Amino acid sequence: MPVKSNSRAIGLRDNQLSRLLLSWYDVHAREMPWRVGPQLRLAGLTPDPYQVWLSEIMLQQTTVASVRAYYLRFIARWPTVGDLADAEDRDVMAEWAGLGYYARARNLLKCARVVQREMAGVFPDSYRALLDLPGIGPYTAAAVAAIAYDHPETVVDGNVERVMARYFAVLDTIDIAKPVLVEHARRLTPTHRAGDYAQAVMDLGATVCTPKSPSCGACPWRAGCRAYTQDLVAELPRRKTKTVKPTRYGVAYLAYRSDGAWLLERRADKGLLGGMLGWPGAAWGDEAVEQPPIAADWADPEVEVKHTFTHFHLRLALRVGKVSQGIEPEIGAFLTPNQFQRTDLPTVMRKAYDIASSHAKTHDM
Ligand code: SF4
Repeated sequence: MPVKSNSRAIGLRDNQLSRLLLSWYDVHAREMPWRVGPQLRLAGLTPDPYQVWLSEIMLQQTTVASVRAYYLRFIARWPTVGDLADAEDRDVMAEWAGLGYYARARNLLKCARVVQREMAGVFPDSYRALLDLPGIGPYTAAAVAAIAYDHPETVVDGNVERVMARYFAVLDTIDIAKPVLVEHARRLTPTHRAGDYAQAVMDLGATVCTPKSPSCGACPWRAGCRAYTQDLVAELPRRKTKTVKPTRYGVAYLAYRSDGAWLLERRADKGLLGGMLGWPGAAWGDEAVEQPPIAADWADPEVEVKHTFTHFHLRLALRVGKVSQGIEPEIGAFLTPNQFQRTDLPTVMRKAYDIASSHAKTHDM
């Protein structure tokens, strides 16, 4: 039978918890290109709010490993918020291609332009003012205020929720327990080294209190952890049963010319893959609809693209056709190899391109 206990009953006070965690972080902090580690921070180096904001926007819905290369390319190309504000939309969308959730890239640009043009290039330091900027929600506002400005804001991502659910043995499913988990996290947030603390809890969740097989033996909070003492670690956090995602179907048309140009269209700014380059075709739905954008001898490479978005699975049939030079399409434009690269495409369109270009090579020979 579960024992009723809490951190105080076991003997760890909130400030002890934050001290233990910060000592652990001083030794075990993950290195990340956007992070000012604890030693440098103690030596007086402060993070660049632009870099913190950029990394946090990229990290929404995406793993640290996937973000690293994108972040480094962005920072090399647009080292300041002013550089990003002056960038061409299409260049930013192309650099973002493959990172997913493209509304983030559109909001990234909007936000950079507001900060540059209305705030003289300086990100605000308060949670409230950050929250007013495009694309910044409660999580990102708290993360930037804490990490960049050391304000004692409570930063709660999936890692932090898991740590709180286990440490305090919260038995409700995460969706119901959220306010309780946030309150636990808020109570533990210290006023001193708040930025390091915010990153430390996330690191603890990402490297020690992991979803599967957490390393409780290496955890600085083990002595007070209720899930550990009650043998509930493997059961927590509890998740809502997942709803089954529907499947949508579509047909993409990949037309190419002998000069290596491909027919692409830029998708409408709003909606899925908004503002990104893509292959023409009818809207995706319960059935695949044939709607070629141009007259061609279309071939079926007999390999479909399978891709999963947040709310649905997609099965995309492909049609590949060679068209003569000089034919003007009604939809989109032919882009030559100097005008577009494979990496400008979002992942689903890239998968289609790989199949079609290999089909074209084989059948043109
Ligand atoms: S003791 Fe284990 S379950 Fe508890 S917080 Fe640490 S890693 Fe997580």
